[in-house]
Formats: sequence, C-alpha cells, structure tokens
Amino acid sequence: MAILSINIDRLRRDIDNLARFTRGPGPGVTRLTFSEEDRAARAYLRDQMEAIGLRVVELPPGIMIGRLESTTAGGPAVMAGSHIDSVLQGGRFDGIVGVAGALEVARVLVDNQVPIRNPYEVVILPEEEGTSFGAVLTGSKAWVGQLTSDRLGQMRRADGVTYLEAMERYGLPASGLDAHRLHRGRAKAFLELHIEQSVVLEEAAVQIGVVTTVTGIRGFDATLVGIANHAGATPMARRRDALAGAAQLMAELERFTPTLGAHTVCTVGQIACSPGARNVIPGEVRLSIDFRDIENLDVKWAKLASYLEEIATRRGLKLALGQVAGSEPVSLAPPLQDLLDGIVVRRGLSGMRMPSGAVHDAQIMASVTDVGMIFVPSREGRSHCPEEFTAPPDIERGANVLLDAVLALTSA
Ligand SMILES: [Zn+2]
Repeated sequence: MAILSINIDRLRRDIDNLARFTRGPGPGVTRLTFSEEDRAARAYLRDQMEAIGLRVVELPPGIMIGRLESTTAGGPAVMAGSHIDSVLQGGRFDGIVGVAGALEVARVLVDNQVPIRNPYEVVILPEEEGTSFGAVLTGSKAWVGQLTSDRLGQMRRADGVTYLEAMERYGLPASGLDAHRLHRGRAKAFLELHIEQSVVLEEAAVQIGVVTTVTGIRGFDATLVGIANHAGATPMARRRDALAGAAQLMAELERFTPTLGAHTVCTVGQIACSPGARNVIPGEVRLSIDFRDIENLDVKWAKLASYLEEIATRRGLKLALGQVAGSEPVSLAPPLQDLLDGIVVRRGLSGMRMPSGAVHDAQIMASVTDVGMIFVPSREGRSHCPEEFTAPPDIERGANVLLDAVLALTSA
C-alpha cells in the first residue's frame, strides 16, 4: 500500500477550532473539566468523529471515546489520545495535539478504507492538569481504578462542587464508574502524541522524541527551625536565622542536584517565613521541595537530604523533612519504543529517545496496557502559557508517526 499521510490543514483547523472553546477574558486557553467550554469542545469532537462514522460514547469519569470498528475479527482496541482540559491561561497545543492527531488518524483510516484487525479508538481524557479539582491525572487514574468513587466525591473545586457532582451535572452517573473501569485486556496499546514542553528537541534540532520513561516524583515539606530574636540586639555571630539558612539550602540544592544525575531535578516552589516581621530574625521557615528523576529516586534523595541536614546542622538549625507526595517513574513499553524508532527512520525523520520530565496520562495508562509516547518540539520550551507553540510541520511529522504506529498495531 502507498504510504498514507495525515492532512495537516484539517489537523490545524481542529486545533484552531478547539482553541476557541475557552473561558474569557484573558489570553491563552482556559478550559476546565466539565465547564461550558469543555462541553462545547466535546460537542465539536463528537461531531467530527460522528461525521466520519465513529461510534462516540462518553463514560464516567468523563472519558470520551470515538470507536472505529474492526473490519475483521476484532480484538482489543488500539487507543490514541490525550486530554482537552487546560491550565489557567494555558496554550493551544498541550493535550490538544494528541487529541486532534488521534482524530486525524481516524480520518485517514476511514478515507482510505484501511482494513483494520483491531478496533481503533480516539480517547479524550478529562482533568489531566488538575486545574479544577487539585490533582493531576485525575481522569486517567479514575478510569483505571487508581482513584475510587469515594475519593472523587471528596475532591472539590473552588466553588465547593465535588468531582462526582460536576460529573453528574455534566450527565454521567457516578454509579457507572465501576462498570466502565478500564481493565487490562481491553486495550492493545495506548499512544499519546504530545508537545515536549521543554527545549531538548529544539536545542538538539531533532524532530521526534520517543519517550522512554516518565519521571517519578517525591514531594516534601521541609521545616527549618532556628531562633527568632531581636533584629537589632542580636550580634551576627549569635544568630540562628532560619531564612538565611533556607537561602543557603536552596543555593546548595541547586548546585548539588545535577551531581546526582542528568535527569535529576529539584525545585523549591513555596516558602513561608515566620514570624515574617521586618525587625525579627526569622525563627522558622517552611519550604516545599519537589524532587524528580527517572530512576533510584529514594537513593538519590537520601544523599541530597543528608547533605541538606549537614548544612542545617552547621548553622545550628533543625531541619525536618516530611514526604507529602510521591509517584514512581514509569517505563513505557520497549516494543513500542522500537516500533516508533523504526517509523521515524522509515519516514526519514530525525528522532531521539528521551525521558519525560512532565507527568502525562500515558504513565497511568501504562498500568493497564502497553503505552507509546511521541514528543514533538515546543518553541523555546514554553508551555502552560499563551506563548506555547509547536510549528505545523512538527505537528504533521508527529501525527504521521502516530498514524504509522496505529497502522502497524491495528494490522499486526
Ligand atoms: Zn498535556
């Protein structure tokens, strides 16, 4: 069969159209799960999928699926998709490239009457960003059973409405959650095309990233305790200044982290100083620490933590570290990495294997099926902002890799 390719004009039109479903005012895209904008975007996608003969269903916890039936015996579905929710004033490409790309792949299969042994499903996942209900990957986690109905009933958005209530108001009964859970065996594979959201591909001038591993996370609350005292009467040598200690800790953390590995990253994103007065030496500082890597997180963190404790002790401060969150690194299916690598070569593209520093639904889907993930370059690495941009030729190349992977998996 001649090489099939996606139609970038149709795909761009979808991306442009979906960008219009945003809560104004303000720049960028704001599309929150179960909002009016979300409903309108889903209606648009439903129309597009039904227009080419896909059977569209929506299931609790808010999953939308457009299914193209097998032309032969059937078997587990080959799924491709991503999310359509956004951060506040985010970009037009995050998640959308994967959804619109999966839709465009369906059009190519239908237009060319490609015989497929396995059904093909376009999958749209809700609440990936956690903007409304506070936790990332909520939709995929709930779908595979990692979040219970009880938990969804406790997760609230700012107006007090729980995930379950918002889902029911949208029209999906909470009672259907268990029945529609995604079990192992239902999918042959899940493929996600996504913008890279960093500068690795752009700086290497490489067109396609084949994701190997999604990074694991350890989240800590750190409390640094010194002695609050008079800012005028306490000589410099006698101070136990918790904030000055925190400053040193943060500087050392920045210096020490890269020595742990090429993919190790660590971020202090929040800081609170007590008592927080102009004329009082700070007695206590609380910091958030977000530590990520693709392997050996606990061993590496232990090294970093003992170094931080040493610094605190040297300054006469007490450091307490409490873990508040954690997720393990997830390796994506090696056979799918090989498949994607082969497609990149056959298409004459440049590609590289790389880990993902950001979390993605793909890592949750990996608990129930083989997962492959394709990255395309992000201009200047910008994402989660209105400036987020991926050039149409890059999207086209990524969607063609997705198409070839779907063709291989549905026909094999
Ligand atoms: Zn995303």
